[in-house]
This record gives sequence, C-alpha cells and structure tokens, in this order.
Amino acid sequence: TIGMVIIDSKGEVAAGTSTNGATHKIPGRMGDSASPGSGAYAMEGVGGAAATGDGDIMMRFMPSYHAVHILSLGFSPSEAAAQSIQRILNVYPRFMGAVVVASVKGSYGASCTGLDTFSFSVQSNSTTRVETIKCLP
Ligand code: ASP
Repeated sequence: TIGMVIIDSKGEVAAGTSTNGATHKIPGRMGDSASPGSGAYAMEGVGGAAATGDGDIMMRFMPSYHAVHILSLGFSPSEAAAQSIQRILNVYPRFMGAVVVASVKGSYGASCTGLDTFSFSVQSNSTTRVETIKCLP
C-alpha cells in the first residue's frame, strides 16, 4: 500500500491509499485500501489517517476512521494510531499492519504491529525525512 495524509497550508485535509492488494487475492476482491474509513479517512478540522497491512482483517475495524475519531477526542496522533492498532490486536493477536495519522495542527504519528519496526516519510515545506517507529508487540 502507498498511503498518504495531506494537510495543506489552509488546514484542508485529504487522505488516500493505493495498493496491489493481497497476495493470491480472489478476483473481485476490493480490499481495505479502496474502502473509506478502512484504508484511509480524513475529517475536516481534525486530520487524517491511512492504513496498511492485512486488509481482510482491517476492513472489519475501519482503523483509519477509528484513529481519526480518537484524534477528534483530543488524543495525539501517535496515541490515536496506537489505540486503532490495539483495538484490532485485542481480537486478532497476530494481526500485521500499521496506521499513520496527521493532525491539522501539524503533529503526526504512527503505530504498527506484526513487524519489528515501521518506517514512514514526512514532508513539511520542502523537507522530507524518514521516521522509523517500533511496533507494538
Ligand atoms: N492493505 C492491503 C490489502 O490488504 C495490502 C497492503 O497493505 O499493501 O489489500
């Protein structure tokens, strides 16, 4: 999956994902990436999220919507991402996936599980850098 959350200079937010889909997918599988709230979600005045991982599990949890909802309650992007991943882990302890979250206030974060680490890139003005986080056990 390539997932993006974009906040422009006016605070407008957009999020989206593209993907090859799952390995050995059955013909016609839509997957999470094309499903709003699952692959990506954006909420005006709050922020956005994008997810990658086992889409057949993620589609049952709407992790991008959930992360943005948690963000709207006042939690940080990192905490929102972690709560979204943890909600899936509570049901599927072997789930593999990650969520990135950005707030219209300019903060961002991510959470992951099923991997040791997860890297994502952050671009602000003309500077781009790669950040790596440790995943939840
Ligand atoms: N989420 C995608 C899917 O299950 C796979 C991926 O993250 O690349 O279709």
